[in-house]
Amino acid sequence: MAWRCSGPTNEALIENLTRNNLITQPRVQRAMLLVDRAHYSPSAPYEDSPQPLGHRATISAPHMHAAACEALLPFLHPGARVLDIGSGSGYLTHVLAELVRPGGRVVGVEHIEALVEMGVRNSGKSVEGRELVEGGGMRFVRGDGRLGWEGEGPYDAIHVGAAAKGFHQALIDQLRAPGRLFMPVEEGHMQHIYVIDKKEDGTVTRTKEMCVRYVPLTDAPTE
Ligand code: SAH
Repeated sequence: MAWRCSGPTNEALIENLTRNNLITQPRVQRAMLLVDRAHYSPSAPYEDSPQPLGHRATISAPHMHAAACEALLPFLHPGARVLDIGSGSGYLTHVLAELVRPGGRVVGVEHIEALVEMGVRNSGKSVEGRELVEGGGMRFVRGDGRLGWEGEGPYDAIHVGAAAKGFHQALIDQLRAPGRLFMPVEEGHMQHIYVIDKKEDGTVTRTKEMCVRYVPLTDAPTE
């Protein structure tokens, strides 16, 4: 899949992801076209593969970012509140912020200070990113994402960018009803994406999706 979707430019990458049905929604396509991965990936930005960020973190592969946006899309309306846990490079935080414009707010939660700063710095490389940060449509905070980010909830959508050891109740509690959580969860030696829906009446359902490989959602390293 990866070799078929890579391209020489951001436009070519997004076009190839669309041609291979990894992006099916025009809104996702538009948002991913608006955010140049070269502002966020320190190496090979248009390859459909994860790239190292330092601090044992990786920017996820474009097809995983696309899958997350496609899954969360019904909850990404103008004005929506969104949490991006393990924001790393800040790439997905920015794409999500484009998807909830105008009036939406996305909080990127990251537990390594240098990566919080990386997210802010990367966002500053584009006019759109700067506008979103200055206007409050996107912010990066330091915190343990397993606890969510209480101050700005409830959230219409929550994305977790690192593999969790379980279904953290704080994240489910901070979801709006209705709302949707997209997260990789460790299961033995495997990891699977789970899509967790909180319905309007508060009932919660879990759907197990594809097998994935993410960095773990952990305690903050002692530096
Ligand atoms: N979505 C990011 C993924 C970065 S990799 C991107 O595509 O750029 C996963 C990130 O989760 C790393 O940056 C790591 O530092 C962060 N992380 C791991 N455990 C965490 C925790 N408990 N709280 C917040 N961030 C965490």
